[in-house]
Amino acid sequence: MTRYWAEHARVADTTEPGVLIEVSAGRITSVTPGAAPDGATRLPGLTLPGLANAHSHAFHRALRGRTHDGSGTFWNWRERMYALAARLDPDSYHALARATYAEMVLAGITCVGEFHYLHHSPTGEPYDDPNAMGDALIRAAGDAGLRITLLDTCYLTSTVGGEPLEGPQRRFGDGDAQRWAQRASAMTPAPHAKVGAAVHSVRAVPADQLGTIVDWAASYQAPLHVHLSEQRGENDACLAHYGRTPTEVLADAGALGRRTTAVHATHLTDLDRTELGDTDTAVCLCPTTERDLADGIGPARALADAGSPICLGSDSHAIIDPFEEARALELDERLRTERRGHFDAAELLRAASVAGHAALGWDDAGTIAVGQRADLVTVRLDSVRTAGVGPGPAIVFAASAPDVSHVVVDGRIVVRDGGHVSIDVAGELARAVGALW
Ligand SMILES: [Zn+2]
Repeated sequence: MTRYWAEHARVADTTEPGVLIEVSAGRITSVTPGAAPDGATRLPGLTLPGLANAHSHAFHRALRGRTHDGSGTFWNWRERMYALAARLDPDSYHALARATYAEMVLAGITCVGEFHYLHHSPTGEPYDDPNAMGDALIRAAGDAGLRITLLDTCYLTSTVGGEPLEGPQRRFGDGDAQRWAQRASAMTPAPHAKVGAAVHSVRAVPADQLGTIVDWAASYQAPLHVHLSEQRGENDACLAHYGRTPTEVLADAGALGRRTTAVHATHLTDLDRTELGDTDTAVCLCPTTERDLADGIGPARALADAGSPICLGSDSHAIIDPFEEARALELDERLRTERRGHFDAAELLRAASVAGHAALGWDDAGTIAVGQRADLVTVRLDSVRTAGVGPGPAIVFAASAPDVSHVVVDGRIVVRDGGHVSIDVAGELARAVGALW
């Protein structure tokens, strides 16, 4: 039995003072507000439930600071991303992901959804172990001390019209959805890792292949994620080829539903939003990446009103800061509408915590309650950013990643006093990124 005493903690959507949290075998066994510390490990500040990063491409971390020259769009950013993708092997992928995940833990992230499509060698030939790259990510998460849902991604074509993969894309492809399913079935989960499915996009998976992936996810009761309408160009190509929007193509293939998460969902029709909401399909917005790539502003409030649970991801890791992602849901709506007050602060915190865990298949994480996984994220209330703010949910508008002082994942302390317990995160990032350029 381990005992933590939070000076303040978010319990059942309210902030309680002096909360004693007892933990056994990685689970919360009791939560007692108004208690004395009584020898428990003290967590000064405001303790939140574990935060989930529902959309990550770990290797994009090596692009940070390297795509800001010149002008352009998502599409020429992608050229640089492909150049990087061509350089990685299982060892360098592991080193980069381990450091990137450690950066996430420092920011309060206790679970990551890795949308993984760098499957094969640069020529497209499988490695001796066809899951060497995915296994590298699962090991990296274990090293960094957070949980992972490896969203094994099917990526087959370079255009909606079915043009073959070429150049750096070749390593993404399994040939067809059946071969993807065989390889994904051979992934080994671990206590800290689940395996889910992903459809890269309607651009990369032809409609007649979608059913195989949907069936695979259903047979494992696994999450199914898909990039959806991030770019108008994708919508235009999809309409031209299928005469339907990407959302309609996915709906017709049975790909929407409560285990599905649509990532971005930036450029939607009214009907698309209704379809997503009516099927309980979750939506993962990635505001800092969408702004970095000039994607546009997704209709977060309208999607939530339609019935889609909203969660968050740092995607390309232009920055890794779950507080910035969460407040951007509200702040971007303000820019669009010239009005304030679309999401309240408690809703933003739920998007960053329980909703993200649910989208990644961890229904037992993301709240501080008996029986839940013991994930605790303590935010200092005495930093230059947070001093004077108070312990309420509005901390989400003030705090930044460096204000996270302690992180407990499955009952184990992974971050103490703002430092990772076992990894020199900045040093490993510098070495892992430096080795690639
Ligand atoms: Zn993505």
